[in-house]
Amino acid sequence: MTTPRLGLATRLIHTAEGAQPDAAPLTTPTYETTTFLFDSTADLQDYIDGRTGKYLYSRYENPSLSSLEAKLAEAEQGEAAMVFGSGMGAVASTLLGLLSAGDEVICSAAIYGGTFHLLNSFLPRFGVTARFVDLDVLQDPASVIGPATKLVWFESPINPTLRCVDIARVAAACRAAGLVSVIDNTFATPYNQQPLALGVDLVMHSVTKYLNGHSDVTAGAVIGAKALVDRLVPARKLIGAMLDPGAATLVARGLKTLDVRMARHNENALGLARALSGDRRLARVLYPGLPEHPDHAIAAAQMRGFGGMVTIDLAGGFEAAARFFDRVRVFKRATSLGGVESLCGLPVLTSQYGWSDEQLARADVTRGMVRLSVGLEALDDLIADVDHALAI
Ligand code: PLP
Repeated sequence: MTTPRLGLATRLIHTAEGAQPDAAPLTTPTYETTTFLFDSTADLQDYIDGRTGKYLYSRYENPSLSSLEAKLAEAEQGEAAMVFGSGMGAVASTLLGLLSAGDEVICSAAIYGGTFHLLNSFLPRFGVTARFVDLDVLQDPASVIGPATKLVWFESPINPTLRCVDIARVAAACRAAGLVSVIDNTFATPYNQQPLALGVDLVMHSVTKYLNGHSDVTAGAVIGAKALVDRLVPARKLIGAMLDPGAATLVARGLKTLDVRMARHNENALGLARALSGDRRLARVLYPGLPEHPDHAIAAAQMRGFGGMVTIDLAGGFEAAARFFDRVRVFKRATSLGGVESLCGLPVLTSQYGWSDEQLARADVTRGMVRLSVGLEALDDLIADVDHALAI
């Protein structure tokens, strides 16, 4: 019996699909596929039993993501990494992967707004509670650790004051108490700060920011010991917080220049902060690289460079900050950070929106603050732009 000739539709769909050409690409191709082929029942059974390194379904795993995860693990000097569809996907998957109803989290009161809302108003509905603590308590948490405490979540440098925390000290206190420590390393990046080497258990990133670096992908990551990272696998699968393979390719490309980009971000931000320090139109210039910053010593001890974020506190309050915001030309009026483009934002209309005077005072945030994400443009242009926007 001869094989019947297949119809055109069938031939066009199946011809050459999944073929492996004898070509070794220099870069990781984008595996833009939702699913993967198996040769037989035995082949599928081998995968299910963990005997082969094949792939099943792209919500679970995908070679473009594995390649990116290997780069991220390398960047943070971690054993394993997992990527997510956003920074918040990484935060949610970490907390849901590691915690159960009845558990408590100790969290820095000065924390990214999305993380705060997840811990303050969302997770309590599922029996996970959070205790928000000031920086002095965070660095000496023994007094607030209770029987239900399982995890400590913090950032350094912190948005928008750029206060820094003694990372090794927090990590050691957590280890002594048997708690998992997690740091959001988005602002510093692994170029400037290596929290795993300082004893932290897990590093989380909004990859949307510096790691991708080009303001065109929303992504997240968690890096740490394999046994701990593996506990997040079911959360990522079941919440569906997976990254698209095409986005993973873009992030992998961005990561290749992290080193050179961060060197320039550090240089530009330090140059701008120095140029503005002492300017009478400003009440304060907040940058961990300036000797007058309250945590300069901590930052200098644990960071290679001080990052690309600078916050200025205008002497004329909100009116002056709004005027500055309306006058910038090189800095763009947009939220987010970490891209090659310089951006500026008003914390009281974004991360601290709707906060009372008392809440703002506790976080040391003022209505006159402008947060600058210093990009890779020529430093002289950035200094001139800020000078122009501040001109009376
Ligand atoms: N952590 C920090 C420090 C952030 O600035 C952000 C976003 O601004 C996030 C986490 C959340 O990341 P994403 O917007 O990628 O979900």
